[in-house]
Amino acid sequence: MPGLYIVATPIGNLGDITPRAAAVLARADVIAAEDTRVTAKLLAHLGLRVPMTPYHDHSDERARAALVARMADEVVVLVSDAGTPLISDPGYKLVRDARGAGRAITTLPGPCAAIAAITLSGLPSDRFLFAGFLPNKAKARADTIAEFAALRATLVFYESGPRLAATLTALAAGLGNREAAVAREISKLYEECVTGPLDDLAARYADAPPKGEIVVMVGPPQEQAVEAADDDAIDAALREALDE
Ligand code: SAM
Repeated sequence: MPGLYIVATPIGNLGDITPRAAAVLARADVIAAEDTRVTAKLLAHLGLRVPMTPYHDHSDERARAALVARMADEVVVLVSDAGTPLISDPGYKLVRDARGAGRAITTLPGPCAAIAAITLSGLPSDRFLFAGFLPNKAKARADTIAEFAALRATLVFYESGPRLAATLTALAAGLGNREAAVAREISKLYEECVTGPLDDLAARYADAPPKGEIVVMVGPPQEQAVEAADDDAIDAALREALDE
């Protein structure tokens, strides 16, 4: 059936491609890929030769419109370099426009680093907030972290090795010394998940930035800390109301 197929691909171990994903890739008329060189390796592993075109959300409107037009009578597959498209990856604008044009859209679920990391962490998994990459600049990063401080949820961030220690230190400063986890190289040879209070993790990685791909998770606040944050918010709201 023609339309847009959103296909998750492995985040490390190529064996994690699902049989349904492989079948849809095989019958694609075109694969819209974040980086065609990366996707070419996956296709070679599967023994497939399929036409590809590069796609980013900052690709121009015409490139997107052309793909949306093709979805009317062709199988257009969207993939990113690894994991689930749209999750800190391109695709949102393509899906938005395809939906606007009334195209058939389906998704083939599969690997996602955030979800895989939560399953490894031992942190509460009933409520979590996926926050993607924190801003690079210290002030913007601290402001973003402050927005999350009162949330009763496990927080999930994508991160890189060189930024890890600074991020853990900023998280400890903004959220307190909460329980946390650092998951690295999931589904690859050196997969690990290190857990502990934020301060300990920041100290551990300060002198030895780890290699590879990383997900940082921070557990929810203790109830008392949340109540204090709630009290602060009520105080601030009352002061504002009295000032008026
Ligand atoms: N769309 C992808 C997904 O579904 O997970 C995420 C793409 S984002 C550009 C890439 C980030 O995901 C990496 O910087 C890292 O934080 C995380 N990541 C990807 N693969 C990973 C892995 N095997 N282990 C740990 N983190 C990973």
